[in-house]
Amino acid sequence: MQVVTRFAPSPTGFLHIGGARTALFNWLFARHHGGRFQLRIEDTDRERSKPEAVEAIFDGLRWLGLDWDGEVLFQFSRADRHAEVARQLLAAGKAYYCYWTPEELTAMREAARAEGRSGYFDPKWRDADPATVPQDVPPVIRLKSPRDGETVVQDLIQGEVRTANAQMDDMVLLRADGTPTYMLAVVVDDHDMGVTHVIRGDDHLTNTFRQLQLYQALDWTPPAFAHQSLIHGPDGKKMSKRHGAVGAEVYRDMGFLPEAMRNYLLRLGWSHGDDEIFSTEQAIEWFNLENVGRAAARFDMEKLTVLNGHYIRHTEDHRLVDLLAPRLAAQIGGPLDDTARARLLRGMPSLKERAKTLVELAESALFYVQPRPLMMTDKATKILDAAGLNVLKHLSESLADCPWTRDDLEAEARQFAEKNDLKLGKAAQPLRAALTGTNVSPPIFEVMEILGREEVLARLEDARGAT
Ligand code: GLU
Repeated sequence: MQVVTRFAPSPTGFLHIGGARTALFNWLFARHHGGRFQLRIEDTDRERSKPEAVEAIFDGLRWLGLDWDGEVLFQFSRADRHAEVARQLLAAGKAYYCYWTPEELTAMREAARAEGRSGYFDPKWRDADPATVPQDVPPVIRLKSPRDGETVVQDLIQGEVRTANAQMDDMVLLRADGTPTYMLAVVVDDHDMGVTHVIRGDDHLTNTFRQLQLYQALDWTPPAFAHQSLIHGPDGKKMSKRHGAVGAEVYRDMGFLPEAMRNYLLRLGWSHGDDEIFSTEQAIEWFNLENVGRAAARFDMEKLTVLNGHYIRHTEDHRLVDLLAPRLAAQIGGPLDDTARARLLRGMPSLKERAKTLVELAESALFYVQPRPLMMTDKATKILDAAGLNVLKHLSESLADCPWTRDDLEAEARQFAEKNDLKLGKAAQPLRAALTGTNVSPPIFEVMEILGREEVLARLEDARGAT
């Protein structure tokens, strides 16, 4: 049997971080088994479905590298098929026309609440004589749900979960306007797409009971179900905007690498011994549902950030330059030229040691690409006091004909410091302030080597002139 999984988001907003994890688990499960991973956009709620949200889902999945197989299926386009299945159930006597009006249903619900009853639904129309039905009420189609016994889910994560059928009323399959309900559409689509495993959040567990009843009525083999716990915030409540960003694209903007995000989302609910870092190949090789935890995982920004730092340190310099280029271009107000890119590339091994996000990396790399004169932070300005400027004046002279390697430059600065009875830092800090506009940077002699003599002397000149 070929494994087929699917990710079935409703396009009502961005790609939620929980949705991204669901997609990842479905993707890994399919790839692990050499199966198919499909994408279905559940756009039957026409009012809430937005084209921008569809784009955001595509973008988010692409960013995370979760490629889907075959065409995207748009659920709304299959409304006729869904209606056909509802009518088929009607013809088989497994569903019925129900004539309660919305007002009557509300009144029933309120009466039940007032009397403290949990069930409220009166299945009056289930076996009604067709001669007695009202002519002026457009009916919905409801499933004749079993009244006795239990529905049991053998969940691949939660274990066996059961509920009494008496707890469930006859669900609506087709609304009065002929549109299918979520419950019907999902079952028909999963069946027609040949889905073998439904992996989704445990907020859908109660839907699964209903969906199983529908599979039963249709005589279709249901897929296997696996419900994972939702992601919680640090306070143990369901992850929401209160806890920070919940949209996957926000993490991209905050400077997280997709592979770090993926690794983090994988560990958020799944474990493989004590391992924390997984290559894509390892994740695919090792992923299984047995090791998905039942307890809700807590989102930990600090952990994600540390993991991201690890991934940045292990990312190829060229790729980091490509990733930074648009961010830096936006900051300097124009594209990077070849000189700027070359400097970034040479400076990257040191820069990437320190940054935990691409935002931090871009900030620390800005001085390499900024046009002169540099902006100075307050701290840099303070370093460039009279003594600092005096150091720069003397150093500028000796740098004019110093061999241009980091070792020679350092030797030169040391000599200068010794001669003037200064600590090396006293010479290095003004250089750093003048050359980077800040008080923290990669080793300053490396920075000098990369900037080149001409640029260094010009920046020193700027610093001395500006103050
Ligand atoms: N469209 C549903 C949602 O976004 C998911 C349906 C499913 O996975 O069965 O929550």
